[in-house]
Amino acid sequence: MRVFALTIVLFSSAAAHAAVEVLNRRLDDGQTIIGALTDARVEPQSAMRLIDALDDVFDVRQAKPGHQLRIVRVDGFVENLDYRAGPLDEYQVRRDGWRYVAARRAVAFERKVARFEFDVETSLYEAAMSTGRDPMIAMALADAFGWEMDLTRNAKLGDRAKVLVETLVHHGRVVRYGDVLAASYAPVRGAPMEIFRYQLPGGERAWFFSDGTSAQRTFLKNPVGWAPISSTFGWRMHPIYNEMRFHDGVDYGMPVGTPVHVVASGLVTFAGWTPGGGNMVCVMHEGDYETCYLHLSKLAQGVQADALVYRKEVIAWSGNTGATTRPHLHFNLKHNGFYVDPLRQKFPRTESLPPELYADFSKETAAYLAQLHDDAVPVMAPR
Ligand SMILES: [Zn+2]
Repeated sequence: MRVFALTIVLFSSAAAHAAVEVLNRRLDDGQTIIGALTDARVEPQSAMRLIDALDDVFDVRQAKPGHQLRIVRVDGFVENLDYRAGPLDEYQVRRDGWRYVAARRAVAFERKVARFEFDVETSLYEAAMSTGRDPMIAMALADAFGWEMDLTRNAKLGDRAKVLVETLVHHGRVVRYGDVLAASYAPVRGAPMEIFRYQLPGGERAWFFSDGTSAQRTFLKNPVGWAPISSTFGWRMHPIYNEMRFHDGVDYGMPVGTPVHVVASGLVTFAGWTPGGGNMVCVMHEGDYETCYLHLSKLAQGVQADALVYRKEVIAWSGNTGATTRPHLHFNLKHNGFYVDPLRQKFPRTESLPPELYADFSKETAAYLAQLHDDAVPVMAPR
């Protein structure tokens, strides 16, 4: 237990001769709230009543190291207990006659839009990671551009990416990143690509170009987001059999346990063990496409033959099972029964914005466009 502030105010003006004591505590590893209260010399009966009250608004079993308590005692009796689980997550228990009542505290925070800018040297992936900021930014970029480009390749020196992210600010400090609102990718040669997120009446939030064309395709570019390609589609010297063999898919090198997303919605046709592929899942999609995911460590719950899976759903975790020399995901795609190169497919775009929504959409995107290029928006520089 660390005491990081202790203030004792005697003889407060409100009640003459009342001794007011304020104690700030922070939960240590393995410490419970009752432990912290006992440590602060709150008598056991009061501690139990405080916790009972707090439990009405905050599940006390969720107490974690680092959570903060502020105990206000008047003449030895606890008047208030503030419980802070996070910058936007505060609770207060206060004495009301002979009982304690608890409430969640309304925490004021501001919503601001922040702009991130990246110089892309080798790949968008490396650019996003090199900022050293919240990995959420990299995830957001994957989400925004993952439909249009392979994030681990295709970049040229001088390419530039920008992204607008909603941020929640409390006391001048960014406490959390919210949604990505818009993003642009300006290649060193060619037209910049600008995409905008828009919430459809059904609640789904989808990506569109400024003319209302969908920026999403029916298939994801790949099932793993960021992982580097370790072997491409085509003829190669096989690492185990040591002879030229046709490699019928793409390998992504990555640690065991990386989430594997199904690239399009469909019906599971196979989920189980094969000697070569180890744990494997195959999914049939619209348009006579079939995808398979090999060498998995574990399948997600409910992923079995005839189950429906939805685009981007995590269906399994990568592994090193079957005939492999190192942890990786082998991903293959069949079209009309033949293996094709997943990296060379041009999948159709999802539906464009319905025309009746266009007026509202363009009003929203005009604001984002200004913020993408307006110098008044704070730029989060890479560090
Ligand atoms: Zn392979």
